[in-house]
Amino acid sequence: MSKFIPQPSCADPEDKNRLSIDAARDRISALIKPLNSWQRYPIRDALDRVLYQDIISPINVPAHNNSAMDGYAVRSDDINDGSLNLKQVGTAFAGKPFKGKINSGECIRIMTGAVVPNQCNTIIMQEQVDINDDIVTIHGHHRKGQHVRYVGEDIKTGAVVLAAGRRLVPSDIGLLSSLGIADVNVTRRLRVAFFSTGDELKSTGESLEVGQIYDSNRYTLFGMLKRLGVEILDMGVVPDQKAILRQTLADAAQQADVVITSGGVSVGDADYVKEMLAELGQVDFWKIAMRPGRPLAFGKINNSLFFGLPGNPVSVMVTFYQFVTPALRKLMGESKPDSITLQVTCTDKIRKRPGRFEYQRGILFTDNDGQTKVKTTGSQGSGILSSMSNANCFILLDEQCDGLAANSIVSVQPFSGLI
Ligand code: AMP
Ligand code: MG
Repeated sequence: MSKFIPQPSCADPEDKNRLSIDAARDRISALIKPLNSWQRYPIRDALDRVLYQDIISPINVPAHNNSAMDGYAVRSDDINDGSLNLKQVGTAFAGKPFKGKINSGECIRIMTGAVVPNQCNTIIMQEQVDINDDIVTIHGHHRKGQHVRYVGEDIKTGAVVLAAGRRLVPSDIGLLSSLGIADVNVTRRLRVAFFSTGDELKSTGESLEVGQIYDSNRYTLFGMLKRLGVEILDMGVVPDQKAILRQTLADAAQQADVVITSGGVSVGDADYVKEMLAELGQVDFWKIAMRPGRPLAFGKINNSLFFGLPGNPVSVMVTFYQFVTPALRKLMGESKPDSITLQVTCTDKIRKRPGRFEYQRGILFTDNDGQTKVKTTGSQGSGILSSMSNANCFILLDEQCDGLAANSIVSVQPFSGLI
């Protein structure tokens, strides 16, 4: 029989070995080297992928001085503060420049986006002129250079437009197309395998017997991984049996860059994930001073990274967002993913005991005076998955906090920033 080794529970306030969330994040980050291989894609297919190389602009944007208004292009030397008559000698359209010459005392009609001819440097809005045959009478005060968009004003040839490590958003692919760039190199797609562990778990379509529950973690994990843009390998539900667990872990590690499990990392009699991980690879097993979130197993099986998440559905989501997401983003080569926090008034009283960092579920809303505030979703049990669906943010409560009165200022992390 194996020797029983007492393991301090993470509910034990005396446990001095618990890691802070920052220390846990740093230890994970220290073990991750960004992927060093790339794929070339047409820019539409590169949406949500991470740039492998800097994008250098091959052109000036705009490529020519052009008009920001519909109106008249004039020579600034001709402008004075009184009324002024100029002779219209032609018209410039967007895409159809005026090819003639413009002498002193002359002007051309010009449309928004049309090239401003060399001799001209100023645009008069059409609302500020009177027209009489080919004579344009200009009124009002005008400034030299007004309403001209200058060559290279947005982007200069040779400038770094988008840096390596950037996750491409819709404006980025528009920007790339505005530079005439059709394909880009992005880091290769990560392959992530995951499965749930537990004898009590059934899948949708199966009937439940007493004590059984439907597996939800594989579905939340699927959703969160899908949003990150990784290739997903769903390996199903694995019962609490060492041999099957060992085999599934080995299979997963062979096929994927990252393996994620849920359940079975606690100190119960059927929690075998750590043991199997220790057999197959290296394991780092931590108790993190956070709630929800129980012990987190982290390690490697051959070349694959491994995350053993807790079983409770809310704990899975919190540990995924707080530890797995930043790790996968770093692995994908993303530089400094931004996680936004806001300071807002919480209209509810918050109950909390000091000792652990808490991620309570909150709802950001705008009150009748237009102020953004947060309220809690109510009961904060780590099995209450509906609290995640009702919430749109985490309310961040540091270790020392021992509860807050209603209308206190709190930090929140909107879900929209989490991908
Ligand atoms: P464990 O860490 O395996 O002891 O699981 C902790 C709690 O989470 C238990 O109540 C499990 O029944 C529950 N649980 C574990 N895995 C899942 C899952 N995939 N879906 C829903 N609940 C789960
Ligand atoms: Mg279990």
